[in-house]
Amino acid sequence: MIELESVTKKYGNLTALRDVSFHITEKETVGLLGRNGAGKTTLLNLITGYFPPSAGRIRIGGMEMAKDPAACKRLIGYMPERPPLYDEMTTESYLRFVCRLREVKKQAVRDHVEEILALCGLREVRTRVLGHLSRGYRQRAGIAQALCGAPEILVFDEPTTGLDPQQTVEIRELIRRLRGEHTVIFSSHILSEVQQVCSRVIILDEGRMALDYDAEHPDSGRLLLRLKIAGETPAVLKRLRHLDGFEDAEALPEEETGVAEVRVSAVRGEDSGAALDRAFRTLADSGLPVRMMREERENLEEVFLRVISGSGRQ
Ligand code: ATP
Repeated sequence: MIELESVTKKYGNLTALRDVSFHITEKETVGLLGRNGAGKTTLLNLITGYFPPSAGRIRIGGMEMAKDPAACKRLIGYMPERPPLYDEMTTESYLRFVCRLREVKKQAVRDHVEEILALCGLREVRTRVLGHLSRGYRQRAGIAQALCGAPEILVFDEPTTGLDPQQTVEIRELIRRLRGEHTVIFSSHILSEVQQVCSRVIILDEGRMALDYDAEHPDSGRLLLRLKIAGETPAVLKRLRHLDGFEDAEALPEEETGVAEVRVSAVRGEDSGAALDRAFRTLADSGLPVRMMREERENLEEVFLRVISGSGRQ
């Protein structure tokens, strides 16, 4: 549905996005995560054809954005960070207006708008003027306008920014309801939010794609090894840091005196089984017997912190 190939975007001398590539398949819900200024809005503006990339290619539904922008844009409903609402219109008349813009057949508009009002929890404010709505309702109206014409792809830029906790939960719930019906990409700088709504997370860091993490495919996180080794922690760490197939050895708090607790991560691409066997033998041969060895997978929070701190760019 959405394909980016080596996409770069420059604003004058500033490179806001650098060589970003990924594919999003039909009906996936993907969270775009990154700190302020990481390039999220820039990326979403490129996907929606708001402006062209400085280099690289963007395909939407198999079509080239550069060659056929109108056809690509027809597949997309977009809610920018500040929803484009006409404040003097009522909620219902605004949605009808957007439906006409999006070429919904005249006789279908009424039912379509009814459906969207119900889905977005806007029925009680249908006759209210948009300019008088609370921020939560305005966000819902922003999502509602993106749904007009039932586009395949929905793009939401920080849909929960500035909302109170109750409104945030409601918007999250709404996005969750859209899962499986549309291909959804939404940006956020809140890790837990992305975790709750989607299984796949793309992390941007300073304009680069730092990680493409898919919770449903456990090989997204690194393989970690937690070990208890009879020996002094400094000696154990020294040995582990020279062990092939592993990196980032760190000490954990000791529970038993004289037994080091450590965590190491497997080097990507290594045969992890072979690396584990080697670790076991080498430690034993070095007079550091392994008391416990357990495999763990990095969770999204650990991946995020590692990637954002810049220690493990992929
Ligand atoms: P935020 O979470 O604050 O919205 P973001 O991840 O969406 O941030 P972008 O808005 O894409 O980040 O900005 C990426 C970088 O590009 C920032 O350094 C920003 O200052 C810069 N930038 C964005 N738009 C423009 C523009 N029109 N002209 C010049 N620089 C820009």
